[in-house]
Amino acid sequence: MKKHNFNAGPSILPREVIEKTAQAILDFNGSGLSLMEISHRAKDFQPVVDEAVALFKELLNIPDGYSVLFLGGGASLEFCMVPYNFLEKKAAYLNTGAWAKKAMKEAKAFGDVIEVASSADANYTFIPKGYEVPADVDYFHITTNNTIYGTELHADPDVNVPLVADMSSDIFSRPIDVSKYICIYGGAQKNLAPAGVTFVIVKNDAVGKVSRHIPTMLNYQTHIEKGSMFNTPPVVPIYAALQTLRWLKAQGGVEEMQRRAKLRSDMLYAEIDRNKMFRGTVTAPEDRSYMNICFVMADEYKELEADFLKFATEKGMVGVKGHRSVGGFRASCYNALPVESVQALIDCMQEFEKTH
Ligand SMILES: *Cc1c(COP(=O)(O)O)cnc(C)c1O
Repeated sequence: MKKHNFNAGPSILPREVIEKTAQAILDFNGSGLSLMEISHRAKDFQPVVDEAVALFKELLNIPDGYSVLFLGGGASLEFCMVPYNFLEKKAAYLNTGAWAKKAMKEAKAFGDVIEVASSADANYTFIPKGYEVPADVDYFHITTNNTIYGTELHADPDVNVPLVADMSSDIFSRPIDVSKYICIYGGAQKNLAPAGVTFVIVKNDAVGKVSRHIPTMLNYQTHIEKGSMFNTPPVVPIYAALQTLRWLKAQGGVEEMQRRAKLRSDMLYAEIDRNKMFRGTVTAPEDRSYMNICFVMADEYKELEADFLKFATEKGMVGVKGHRSVGGFRASCYNALPVESVQALIDCMQEFEKTH
């Protein structure tokens, strides 16, 4: 049976990315060696990193003066590297969910952390608005897509301080104005590559300004100077990321990804709103994520939750169980998810409605 992959992360990748990576694992560039058994400094591998960096810059329209890094440690290590490198006295954070909260927790070890606004009291069912960001903070940190709660900032905020963003789960799903940010980071395993590589887009002249000592591996300057080659980078995930970036470009880039994301999410939200058995969890319609679509059974049908999950699983839906802190269902619709998979889920919801 065909599987429809709605996993929240690690998650669906384009089939050709998986095939090309599998091929390189067997034989890298006709060398007779596996991608897994060559030096990261081999002359054949450097072009992989160079092309991946170039495609990042091209696809996201990254201005001069920024570096693109491929590191280890996941987005979770960036929660600590960001304040290590940028927080001298004070930073502002927007608390929009579990990941934002974790980022704030790390920052508190380095200076004052101002929570400008929070939707924690409403279980993060909307993104706070109308907050003020103090003018004297070193940066303002946002989580552009809240993977667990299904809310998303669809545009880059207008503030008068440098922005830092965790874009783990919506990178390459829309155009961004990189010039507003000093740092954009994320784990690659949602929209870009298998787990193991972290991308960081960092403004070169924003680095090196804090007065504290920074351990070599945690210092962005180290990785900027060495082009992500200070130590052994995650070679296989970087190779896979390059295949995804080539795929993205061939498909029409981030504008096309945004169009598809909107199409998929519009279809699914329309069904959630129409179908009497289901209800969306995000209370502000403009904050609904295009990537992670969260919904629950309507109150009258609460006891059928396990039944629907079983029904959908039998029809080939994978990964639609909601995160434990929200419950219900979450359909993650990342870039590589075909619209047919969304239609298959909608068909499931309609069939379930007819039989109950
Ligand atoms: C998945 C996720 C993380 C955690 O990423 P790791 O690479 O596992 O550390 C952080 N932030 C967001 C928004 C995520 O979706």
